[in-house]
Amino acid sequence: MSTLGKTISLIVEIRPYKSLKQMLEAQHYMCAGCHKHFDDGKTLIRDFAQTFGWGKPRFCEYTGQLFCSSCHTNETAVIPARVLHNWDFTQYSVSQLAKSYLDSIHDQPMLCVSAVNPFLFSKVPALLHVMGVRKKISAMLPYVRCPFRRSINKGLGSRKYFLESNDFFALRDLIDLSKGAFSVLPVMVETVSSKILGHITEQCLICCDVGVPCGARQACNDPSSLIFPFQEDEIERCPSCESVFHKLCFRKLTNCPCGEHLRADEPAELVKRASSVLGLEVSGVLDLFGRGSGSGLLSGLFPKVKAENPREHKDGDNVILMDSFPPASL
Ligand SMILES: [Zn+2]
Ligand SMILES: [Zn+2]
Ligand SMILES: [Zn+2]
Ligand SMILES: [Zn+2]
Repeated sequence: MSTLGKTISLIVEIRPYKSLKQMLEAQHYMCAGCHKHFDDGKTLIRDFAQTFGWGKPRFCEYTGQLFCSSCHTNETAVIPARVLHNWDFTQYSVSQLAKSYLDSIHDQPMLCVSAVNPFLFSKVPALLHVMGVRKKISAMLPYVRCPFRRSINKGLGSRKYFLESNDFFALRDLIDLSKGAFSVLPVMVETVSSKILGHITEQCLICCDVGVPCGARQACNDPSSLIFPFQEDEIERCPSCESVFHKLCFRKLTNCPCGEHLRADEPAELVKRASSVLGLEVSGVLDLFGRGSGSGLLSGLFPKVKAENPREHKDGDNVILMDSFPPASL
C-alpha cells in the first residue's frame, strides 16, 4: 500500500524500544508520512519533552515511527504484532497510513499464526480448537464430489479461506476469538464441519460412495455406519490386509477376517501372516472394500481375482472371530 510515495506493509514483529531522540534522529527530524520537518529551527526539538500541542511528533504504534499532526490524527487500531505475540487487543494510536492499511487487511487471511508465534495455540485454547476443526474440514473436503461444494463456499462467504488447510487468519478472526463466550468463529466452523460430515456420511449418495463397511462384517456394532477415509482417528486398521474397523469393533475382534491376529498382547503367528499376505484372503478384502462393485477405497489396489477356496490356508477360521458372537449366526 502506498500513499504519498510512502509504502506500508504487514508488520508482525514487535519493534525494539527506541527513545524519542533516537527516532527523531533516525527520521532526520522529519514526519515519516509527509517528510515535513517537525521544527525548522531545531531549538524546539531540544525542548521537546516540555512541548505540547501543535508541532509535537505523534508516535504510530504500528510502524514505530513519528508523524506530524496531519499524518497522524490520533486514530486507533488493534496491532497485529501485539495480538500475535501478546494476545493483546488494545486499541493503539496509529498514523493515518497505518490506520487505512490495517482497515484494508482487516478481513484478509494474512496472519500466519504458526510462523509468527506457534506458542499462541497452546495459550489460546479457542484458537487451537478452531484450527482443529479447520483441519477436519480440509480432510473431508476432497470427498465432496457433488455440487454441495458450492453451497459450502457460499455459506462461508468471505471466510472461504477456512476451507484451506493452513493457519492463516484475518485480524477480525483473532479479534472475534478474543471475545471468549461471545465469539462466533468456533460455532461457525463447527457448523460447516458437521454439515460436510453429515452430507458425506448420511445425505449424499454420490459422496457416500467413498465409504467402506467395517471389516468386522456381521460382528460390527453399527453396520449402517460406513467408514470414511477422513476418519483415520476414529478407526483401526488391520496391519496385514489394511481392512478398516470401527474402534469398538476392532477391540472385540481377536482376528481380522484375513486371519491376522489383531491383539497386540497375543503374538501374531508368522505362518498365518505369511499365508494371509500371499494367499487367498485377497478376495475377502475385495468384498470388504469393493462391495462387489469395485468402487470402494482399496478395490483398485487388488486384482479382482476370487479365490477358489478361501479357507484353504485358514484352518477354517478366517471369517469372524469374536468372543461374544454366537457362531451359529455367522
Ligand atoms: Zn506529516
Ligand atoms: Zn455430495
Ligand atoms: Zn464396526
Ligand atoms: Zn486383515
